[in-house]
Amino acid sequence: MTEKLSNELEKRCQDLEENLKVVRENIAQAALRAGKKESEVTLLAATKTVPVEVINYGIQLGIAHIGENRVQELLSKIDDLSPCDRQFIGHLQTNKVRQLVGKVSMIQSVDSVKLAQEISKISEQKGLYTDILIEVNIGREENKSGIAPEKLEDLLYEIASYPAIRIRGLMAIPPVSENILETKRYFENMSQYFVDIKGKKIDNVIMDYLSMGMSADYVQAIEAGANLVRVGSSLFGARVYL
Ligand SMILES: *Cc1c(COP(=O)(O)O)cnc(C)c1O
Repeated sequence: MTEKLSNELEKRCQDLEENLKVVRENIAQAALRAGKKESEVTLLAATKTVPVEVINYGIQLGIAHIGENRVQELLSKIDDLSPCDRQFIGHLQTNKVRQLVGKVSMIQSVDSVKLAQEISKISEQKGLYTDILIEVNIGREENKSGIAPEKLEDLLYEIASYPAIRIRGLMAIPPVSENILETKRYFENMSQYFVDIKGKKIDNVIMDYLSMGMSADYVQAIEAGANLVRVGSSLFGARVYL
């Protein structure tokens, strides 16, 4: 490693240490306002584009869960990553499922019967279970991943019986908005779906995770009921795409 790169990495690690304190404090405060304990909200670090050295430093600081968006990037990092819980949070194509299953504990971005079927089939072949969240397109945006809210229940009933997946909850990314109150309304809608579905006690549907909130809005997400937040740039700084 060149001297320059090593200095740069060191700087990024120092920044991460400071940022992590702030994010943890914000999570603790928001959890309190939501009537939860800090420990009831899971921080997942979104690590796309972040060098493995910086991720490993974060793991050393106590980051226990990381999320990657692209199968290829995850696989390129995986051998060098320190032990931690790995999850998949990006859009997943059916033809990449085989490479992914077994490498992550949870796939947060399942939005179709076809994808759930493939994950179950391949998990079964590999002799394991894969936890999944259903991604909901809460803003009903065209060209965006996620199932439409009105189709959510049918999807759950359809896939609940698949043998090698466990449905653990819901995930959402609300529409980009300058107006935090608008974002908060989407979070509250999601929370309502989450509570409603949990109340239905569908066989094999566990519903213990509501994954929503990113750097710009994780506080509001927790206040609205999220118990898993996916934070990237507020921890690692702005992403640099090479
Ligand atoms: C990148 C990413 C995040 C984190 O985004 P930040 O705004 O950098 O916190 C969260 N969730 C998903 C699905 C992502 O792709």
